[in-house]
Amino acid sequence: MKLIRCKECNDVVRLVHIEWRKCDCGESGGQYNDDLLSATVGGNCEVIGIRNDFFEKSREDRVSEHIDSIIQGEYNGDLQINRIESSNGPKLKMEIKKLGDNVKITFIDDRKYSMNLAGNKMPRTIEIPYNDTPSFKDISIRNKLKNL
Ligand SMILES: [Zn+2]
Repeated sequence: MKLIRCKECNDVVRLVHIEWRKCDCGESGGQYNDDLLSATVGGNCEVIGIRNDFFEKSREDRVSEHIDSIIQGEYNGDLQINRIESSNGPKLKMEIKKLGDNVKITFIDDRKYSMNLAGNKMPRTIEIPYNDTPSFKDISIRNKLKNL
């Protein structure tokens, strides 16, 4: 589960795939990309996270298994966080192709973007793991269930 913390207003916002979300002051924003693993973020924010299995565990197990802490959501060599300048989005345009256990992403956006990489910070294509267990439930599925 990816979250952004705005360095201006300290608001913490959970990223989702269905909409671009912004912090309270508007200086930071972000959204999951269509591969449901990587995300586009913009503005003056840091990315933090909660392990996806956190909510599957009891409070006691979270402590005993040492998964009860916020984790760094962006690190050197990270291909999952794609930064743009604007806090208003939208998420980067890309073509996504599944290749076995991975997805190949080709950026087709005209805007500048960057990743926390040594050397070329703006690769045109990247390969990241395929995410078959996203951290969010599909709202449309949830709404359908609600209406049953
Ligand atoms: Zn803010």
